[in-house]
Amino acid sequence: MDDNYSFRPIGLIRSCYTGKFGIPRQPGLVTAVEARLELFATFAREEAFTGLEGFSHLWLLFVFHDAIAEGWRPTVRPPRLGGRRKVGVFASRSPHRPNPIGLSAVEFRGLDREGGGLALRLGGVDLLDGTPVLDVKPYVPYADCLPQASSGFVPPSHDRKREVIFSPQALTQAQALSQARWADPEGERRLADLITQVLRQDPRPGYLDRYPDRQDFALRLYDLEVKWRETGGQILVTALEPLAT
Ligand code: SAH
Repeated sequence: MDDNYSFRPIGLIRSCYTGKFGIPRQPGLVTAVEARLELFATFAREEAFTGLEGFSHLWLLFVFHDAIAEGWRPTVRPPRLGGRRKVGVFASRSPHRPNPIGLSAVEFRGLDREGGGLALRLGGVDLLDGTPVLDVKPYVPYADCLPQASSGFVPPSHDRKREVIFSPQALTQAQALSQARWADPEGERRLADLITQVLRQDPRPGYLDRYPDRQDFALRLYDLEVKWRETGGQILVTALEPLAT
């Protein structure tokens, strides 16, 4: 039996997450921004998606393409355990797996047709910009939603109620950036909502409890460096700086 399978991605994700640090750890946690699955020409066939419009959510199967080089180990330290405890890779959702395949249920917001191309508009993704997607399947609640399920070492709720505030400098930068880039009057609010939701998730790595004095952090969204300071449960966004590309 030939046990090597090769799969061909159907398209690539375009998202605001241009760096791995700060991407939400599961889908649905940050809803403020829209991502796209841009299909490759061979698969940009509308008939292949007929019927999908009635589904609010989709499963995406994708490649953790930016984790492949690091390989895999039989045990991992999940961030939900503060990086302190090890569990088996197959008891985790770690990107570092023998077959680096990811699975996310995301919101489906419709199809975009533009100049012969085809893209799916998606909400709530936890995917790096450029992620190759292997497959799309409708989310079928009667089979896929299991409210009675127990969740092992993962706490049931992620709601941490962290307060996010913007410094006057960060607010001015958000205003200038959104005016220059998005001719949309809502652009500034959307950028602020996105940053607020991302930081509320607490992207800091678990091992930081070994460095309790560290206060200043930065992550990438689009081509921006978002800088913030942690001050006793409150988050102060200090600056938004365009990165040299
Ligand atoms: N919902 C998925 C992903 C869980 S891991 C699953 O359960 O399979 C989530 C982390 O994957 C994110 O925090 C992000 O840092 C990482 N990630 C997202 N896209 C990636 C990619 N293309 N390559 C490597 N890591 C990625």
